Amino acid sequence: MKITIGHLFPDLLNLYGDRGNIAALCRRMEARGIKTAVKQYDIGDDIDFSELDIVFIGGGSDREQLLVCKRLLEIKSDITNYVEEGGALVAVCGGYQLLGHYYQLKNEKIEGLKILDIYTTQGDPRLIGNIILESEYIGGTIAGFENHGGRTVINSHTPLGKVLYGHGNDGKSGYEGVVYKNVVATYLHGPLLPKNPILTDKIIKNAVCKKYPDFLLEDIDSTLENTAHDYIVKRFLGNQTV
Ligand code: GLN
Repeated sequence: MKITIGHLFPDLLNLYGDRGNIAALCRRMEARGIKTAVKQYDIGDDIDFSELDIVFIGGGSDREQLLVCKRLLEIKSDITNYVEEGGALVAVCGGYQLLGHYYQLKNEKIEGLKILDIYTTQGDPRLIGNIILESEYIGGTIAGFENHGGRTVINSHTPLGKVLYGHGNDGKSGYEGVVYKNVVATYLHGPLLPKNPILTDKIIKNAVCKKYPDFLLEDIDSTLENTAHDYIVKRFLGNQTV
């Protein structure tokens, strides 16, 4: 049993250690006896999506997004088919924005993949800080950090969570991220998954169930991960119950 993760353009999109998310996915799969492989793709590389079980796109600056967007548009139909057929995709911040119709900057428009019916407009000030979500998708809280100028409107998409602390998609809707098929798209920067083991397992489950429908993901010891998660949630929400 083997799961292959494709990391798209880590040389350009890797803010705040987004790569830590891949380490967390691998560790929690290997702890269950699932072999893992990580393939990193540079901007000019060919990508065979049929070889991939999880695709990861991280965050980047506006300049880097502009470079990446041109390449993504060239492979638009491959990545769209991968998503529509239930491939697992994790997209963070800049990667999240690129899944939508566009990211409108002050003087420039970055065209997106239109996989999600969302759009993003650059605003002021940047939305920066710790963030806590309550997420029906995982049945619990998600703790993270956000830093984005973009304000994202998600239309009728299902959000990843409701903002309990922090800014979220646009600083005012009260929601953060999008979940669509097996896509998890979020502004929460890396390393997000190491301190959110339930979300990590959900992404693993999505990928494993597609490839090995009979495989049951057993529980593993998550004491350290849960301690980190609970510490952050308590620090920002105090004793407020969720
Ligand atoms: N450049 C985008 C923004 O500022 C995304 C930033 C990021 O990936 N951190 O909104």
